[in-house]
Amino acid sequence: MSKVILGGGLGGLSAAYYLKKFSPNQAVTLIESSSRTGGWIKSSVQENGAIFEQGPRTIRPRGDAGANTLQLIEELNLSDQIVPITSGHPAAKNRLIYANGSLHLLPSSLTGLFRKQEPFSKPLILHLLNDLKARRKEVKDESIYDFIGRRFGSEVADYLISPLICGICAGNAKEISVKFLMKQLFEYEQKHGSVSKGLLTSLFAKSKRPTVLCETALRARSEKWNIYSFKNGCETLPIALRNNIVSNGVNIKFNTECTEIITDKGQVILNLFNNETIKCDHLVGAIPANVLGRLLQKQHPELAQCLKKLTKNVSVAVVNLLFKENFIKNPAFGLLVVPKEQLPVLGVIYDSCCFPVENCGTVLTVMMGGYWFEEHFGTNPQENVLLDVAVKHVKRILNCDHDPFNYKVNILKQCLPQYVVGHDENLDLINGYIRTHKLPISLCGASYYGVGINDVILSAKNAVKDL
Ligand SMILES: Cc1cc2nc3c(=O)[nH]c(=O)nc-3n(C[C@H](O)[C@H](O)[C@H](O)COP(=O)(O)OP(=O)(O)OC[C@H]3O[C@@H](n4cnc5c(N)ncnc54)[C@H](O)[C@@H]3O)c2cc1C
Repeated sequence: MSKVILGGGLGGLSAAYYLKKFSPNQAVTLIESSSRTGGWIKSSVQENGAIFEQGPRTIRPRGDAGANTLQLIEELNLSDQIVPITSGHPAAKNRLIYANGSLHLLPSSLTGLFRKQEPFSKPLILHLLNDLKARRKEVKDESIYDFIGRRFGSEVADYLISPLICGICAGNAKEISVKFLMKQLFEYEQKHGSVSKGLLTSLFAKSKRPTVLCETALRARSEKWNIYSFKNGCETLPIALRNNIVSNGVNIKFNTECTEIITDKGQVILNLFNNETIKCDHLVGAIPANVLGRLLQKQHPELAQCLKKLTKNVSVAVVNLLFKENFIKNPAFGLLVVPKEQLPVLGVIYDSCCFPVENCGTVLTVMMGGYWFEEHFGTNPQENVLLDVAVKHVKRILNCDHDPFNYKVNILKQCLPQYVVGHDENLDLINGYIRTHKLPISLCGASYYGVGINDVILSAKNAVKDL
């Protein structure tokens, strides 16, 4: 009997890749409800060479998860397709926020911390020192906004952390779990009394055994890559993964939606939309947790409840804009809007600063909605309305009067998971249920262990490593 992977996004493709890598003779079927693999990752190259990314656009090389992705890239022979942004590049150094009606550059150096810079009322270092005075609060978990507000003050929570959370998961920092998304800072306070003390202690702690790095990861380190993408955009990765797994015998069933999952004496039965069924001895669930919960509802209501509670996904409108003129005055990665501004725009990415294209003016991506999508746009907005809102706000925020000559509007419904307070605890309940009931099911993908490309790939590797 075979293994079945449900979902052909990055998580499902990676799970299939690692299953075949660890156990080449394994029969593997991947079930995908749409006509393509890659999930939210979609890049389209325009006539003039500019790339419109619908979903992710950059990957971080750092940490164990970053090194793991670079190794995967190397194994897929994609290393020469990488386009890195190194640490000295303006797109690596410069981050802007839009607050109180204007743009502000965030400090990017140590000296910057000692200067008073708008919109902060005092030098950032004084906010950071607040952490030394703030008393430890014993909590199981709390929102990132409350945690940062307690330790560093409300200005840091409003102007630094809230927009950052919009940039990571289009979410509301007042609901996202600090224990999950900023685990290290949370643990520093719980164990050492303050973030700064924890940070100092960790500097003197015995460093863990270094990870053995592949050639590409060593290159990333020596060339000081900050972030990277590929010549033809991020979709290069899922396309290469799909080609690899197909050539290694994975059977991909496109346009095949799973409507119910039943477990029975060590096997899993998947009911499909066309009344077909597929049986397997192990299922890797690589679809959003709330969808998986729906499929397990009848037989495992308790598990379904936890899965549905795990992630409340939010929708994002992604508007790619191409202008003839080059009008970016301060080259940067882009800007994030402070949620207090209550604008429909979450942020604007300066694609043409990150990855310039010859003879091409300005390329921008406007991200809108997120946690506040329905509040601003209702449930079913028209694309032309979204385009108008995006262009109007680009003109207002960047103080320019140019119109795009090419654009693409995508509405990404329920695309980003929100790791709300209690996420870790809920995850433990889910894993505990699967263990106790000996269900032949493993989980991977953005719903569980992090939203970044690196997290999703690593979650897939971990999900299949013992199968
Ligand atoms: C707008 C946006 C910007 C992002 N930017 C970045 C970035 O710059 N850097 C970064 O590292 N990460 C970024 N991310 C995050 C990253 O892209 C995602 O976390 C990752 O692609 C999720 O992969 P996944 O496989 O878990 O899920 P998905 O991509 O959602 O894949 C799930 C798949 O399952 C299929 N499916 C669902 N239900 C069923 C069913 N019942 N039966 C069969 N198939 C089903 C779906 O069709 C889909 O193909 C971004 C995400 C978004 C949305």
